[in-house]
Amino acid sequence: METFAQQADTRHAIDFASLYVPPRIEGEFTGKHILSVEQFSRQDLRILFDASASLKKRSRQHDRGLTEICSGKIMATLFFEASTRTDMSFQAAMRRLGGEVVGASNGVRFSSVYKGENLADTVRAAGCYADVIVLRHPEVASSLEAAWYLDKLEVKIGRRPVLIGGGDGIGEHPSQALLDLFTILDQKGSIDGLQITMVGDLRHGRTVHSLAKLVARLKGKGVTVNCVSPPSLRMPAEVMDQMQEGQIPVVETDDLDEVLGNSEVIYWTRVQEERFAERADYDAIQDGFIMTPELLQRARKDAILMHPLPRKHEMGPPESHDILDEDPRSIYFQQMENGMFVRMALLAKVLRGVYV
Ligand code: ASP
Repeated sequence: METFAQQADTRHAIDFASLYVPPRIEGEFTGKHILSVEQFSRQDLRILFDASASLKKRSRQHDRGLTEICSGKIMATLFFEASTRTDMSFQAAMRRLGGEVVGASNGVRFSSVYKGENLADTVRAAGCYADVIVLRHPEVASSLEAAWYLDKLEVKIGRRPVLIGGGDGIGEHPSQALLDLFTILDQKGSIDGLQITMVGDLRHGRTVHSLAKLVARLKGKGVTVNCVSPPSLRMPAEVMDQMQEGQIPVVETDDLDEVLGNSEVIYWTRVQEERFAERADYDAIQDGFIMTPELLQRARKDAILMHPLPRKHEMGPPESHDILDEDPRSIYFQQMENGMFVRMALLAKVLRGVYV
C-alpha cells in the first residue's frame, strides 16, 4: 500500500537537481534559501555557530530582547513526512525569536495536497502567507524544486519567501548536519584529529550524507571518517567523492570492531525502513548494528555517542535505552536541544541577517 508520502509525490518531471544550484552563503545569509550544506564555507559555519552559541546563552538567560529578532515575521511548516524534532524545534525557534508559525490546520495531509495539488503550487501558497517556509518531503531535490518556484513567485508578489529544507528523502538534511557539527564542536572544541564513525544505514540516511559533506567542507586537520554499514547500505558515491575532494581519509567497513576503540565521535543511525521497496531486504539487514550498553563499554572513555533520532531497535530494547541514556557519553538530548539554537540562528540570519 502506498504511504501518504508516496501519494503526495506531486512533483514536476523536471530534473531540478541539475537545474537549480543553491546559492552560496559567502557571509550573507539574508534572503538565501538553505537547501544543502554545500552552500556553506568554513567562514559561514563560524558565523552561524557563533550566532547559535550566542542565542543559546541568551535563551538560558531568558533575554527578552530575543523576541524582537523575528517579530512580525511568519514561518510556514510544510511536512509531507513525519517529524518530531525538526518540526517542533523550528517552531520553538521561531516562537522564541518572537515570530509566528502557520501550518495547514490538520497538517499537509488535510491541505489541498489531499485534492492532488502539486508541490509547486502548495509551496507558493505557503509563500504568499509566510516569510520563511520549512519543507520536508520524501523526494530528493524537492527542496530545489520548491526554491525554484518561490523565486518565480517574487515576480508576482514583489518579495521572495525563503525556503529551508527540512529533509528531502534520502538526499540532504542540512539543518540536522549543522546542529550535529555544532554539537561536536561544542563537545570537542575542534574536529581536528577526530575519528568520526558513522554507523548503520549510510545509504538512505540523509543526516549522515549532510554531515559527511559538511566535515569534508570543514577540512579539519587529521580528521578520519569511518563509515560502518552492511555492504548493501554503504555511503553513496557522491558523498564519498566529496570527502575525497576534501582530502578526508575514509575507512569503509562492515566490522565495527575495526574502528570502535579509536572513535571519538560515534554517530549511530536507524535503518530507514520506509525507504526499502522490499520488506525482505529490510528484514535481512535490520539487526546488523545494535548499540547496547555492553558495546558502549568498549568505546573510548572520551567518546561521544550521537544519534539524530528517532531510535528504534538499533539502540536495543527500551530497557537498554535507559542504561545508554545514563552514560555521560550519550549526548543525543544535548544534540536535540542544540537543534533549536542552531535553527534560531538560521532563522535570524535568513530573515534579518542580524549578527546575534
Ligand atoms: N530524524 C532524522 C531524519 O529525518 C533521522 C531519521 O529519521 O532516522 O532524517
